[in-house]
Amino acid sequence: MENDFAARVRHLNKTYGHDGNIVHALRDVSLDVRRGEFTAIMGPSGSGKSTLMHLMAGLDSPTAGEVWLGPLEIGKLPDAQLTLVRRRRVGFVFQAFNLVPTLDVRGNLLLPFELDGRKPDSAEQKWIDELIASLGLADRMTHRPHELSGGQQQRVAIARALATRPDVVFADEPTGNLDSRTGRDVLGLLRQAATEHGQSIVMVTHDPIAASYADRVVILGDGQIVADRARSSAEAISAFMLSLEVQS
Ligand code: ADP
Ligand code: MG
Repeated sequence: MENDFAARVRHLNKTYGHDGNIVHALRDVSLDVRRGEFTAIMGPSGSGKSTLMHLMAGLDSPTAGEVWLGPLEIGKLPDAQLTLVRRRRVGFVFQAFNLVPTLDVRGNLLLPFELDGRKPDSAEQKWIDELIASLGLADRMTHRPHELSGGQQQRVAIARALATRPDVVFADEPTGNLDSRTGRDVLGLLRQAATEHGQSIVMVTHDPIAASYADRVVILGDGQIVADRARSSAEAISAFMLSLEVQS
């Protein structure tokens, strides 16, 4: 049966350390990410945002609980299979862009296929050409990352993340290294990928303006989900975050 969820976690727990020195990074977290939904994950430093994203993306394994990507339960897969799942089902956009400096834009865009030991088929190539055009990269294809601005590098990273049409694109503070205007462009592109192409996106951010582009804002506190809100203005998100801090 086709399920409506791009990703889901059930009763997720993650602890670090051992003996008398245990940190409960996540405590019984359950979350469904619907297909085509753009979700922002917010919360104070140390609340478990990165841990949740890493577990959902198969970068790390849970201490207990289930992690699903599309129809596949990945929480207990061995490392070699997790690597394949990450290549085929997940796209990443990081604060630091993470492009390969020795490859030009085309090489960076094709990297996910290269790593999977194949070439894009004709439908995929058509989609990649569309991405190149819509992200304004057509005249940059033979440039290397150091020849691009930060905003252009992040566009390449977004195109690369979208190229394989993954179940979920995970973005960790994608605008953290960009000026506010360039950051808004990048957020607009993520928003567009969700609205126009049904791309599911999970974005970790500290920034209420960034979170205001998302369909949904999930707020973590001390390893638990403390709020789950529909799309809101940056002002409303700021006010709400402040009210949570005052309560605690
Ligand atoms: P956030 O991204 O919201 O700042 P994290 O998910 O990075 O929070 O961290 C949640 C908690 O888990 C914090 O207390 C952090 O110190 C702890 N933690 C994260 N990663 C590790 C690790 N590799 N080893 C030990 N503790 C960790
Ligand atoms: Mg973090």
